[in-house]
Amino acid sequence: MTSVLLIAERDDQGEISQSTLQGITAANTLTNANVTVAVVGDAAGSASTLAVNKVITISAISAADNGIYERVTDEVAALVSSTAPDVVILSKTDFGSVVGARLAFRIDAGFAADCIEISKSSDSVSVTRPVYGGSALAEYEIASSPAVLTLRAGAYEPTNDDGTPEVESFSSEATAEQHASVSDTILEAREGVRLEDADFVVGGGRGLGGPEPFSVLTDLANVLGGAVGASRAACDAGWIDHSHQIGLTGKSVSPDVYIAVGISGASQHMAGCSSSRAIVAINKDSDSNIFKEARFGVVGDWEKVLPAFIETVRELRA
Ligand SMILES: Cc1cc2nc3c(=O)[nH]c(=O)nc-3n(C[C@H](O)[C@H](O)[C@H](O)COP(=O)(O)OP(=O)(O)OC[C@H]3O[C@@H](n4cnc5c(N)ncnc54)[C@H](O)[C@@H]3O)c2cc1C
Repeated sequence: MTSVLLIAERDDQGEISQSTLQGITAANTLTNANVTVAVVGDAAGSASTLAVNKVITISAISAADNGIYERVTDEVAALVSSTAPDVVILSKTDFGSVVGARLAFRIDAGFAADCIEISKSSDSVSVTRPVYGGSALAEYEIASSPAVLTLRAGAYEPTNDDGTPEVESFSSEATAEQHASVSDTILEAREGVRLEDADFVVGGGRGLGGPEPFSVLTDLANVLGGAVGASRAACDAGWIDHSHQIGLTGKSVSPDVYIAVGISGASQHMAGCSSSRAIVAINKDSDSNIFKEARFGVVGDWEKVLPAFIETVRELRA
């Protein structure tokens, strides 16, 4: 039986995050998976009703100190040593990217980041991940045990099932010497769905010409029940916060529809959105690379195209 340890994350409300629920679906695709979820802090909220075999609470760290990656890495490494799973899965978030890579180094295991598919044979784990800005998919085999990997948001559907897992507590000596603690947490103000969880993402780039047009993109995102993203050029210009940046050095999204407005489609941008189910481009340059990536495209000035587009979407959804 393949034993899987999934390192959970919580959302702003303290509930188990959508990306962790997607990780449970992914874990269950592995042959005869025996899934354990590790949660920092206690098993409050939805953690105690996850549809998995076991929930292990890492009690030496409070949920508030979750952002101290060094301590979480210490505890997770000790947990992996004591439970010897075949596969360790994290989400491709800031937390998962930092803790996953450190964990793999610490325990001398193979590591694959940003996976969109996983499978297990008798002696190795196979993963698929986008490369070259999403223009190709590469398959890797990880022969180490455990294999450590991070999963791209949206690569699997989140599980809707509830369960009655056995709940256990784990604490090592690793964090006895506490180096730091979180003194304050400032939550980013956000309306609507999280960018990584949105089914519709409207991304804006340098072609918007300034910060104001992002309110038009927000209108469209609201009509669709989606979220607003941006290229690095738009973020670097200070038109929108970097938390909206999509791409190699930003967030990865896999929505049903990604609408790119005034974005040229540089490989570093596409690295974060190429696994969208459909890309729609609005760009005034017909030679722009984004049209090679898009399933649907409009060649034109966004200022003319977007109001009519929003009106039509509004009518269709009414
Ligand atoms: C190491 C590294 C990491 C990077 N990481 C990222 C990353 O994570 N995310 C990211 O996005 N970029 C990243 N970049 C930058 C990336 O290479 C591009 O420079 C950036 O994506 C360009 O942003 P853009 O498409 O908004 O701007 P541009 O490339 O300038 O494109 C603007 C587009 O708008 C169109 N346009 C102009 N006016 C209009 C109009 N009125 N109506 C419609 N269309 C119009 C133009 O035709 C053009 O195609 C990275 C670069 C490096 C070197």
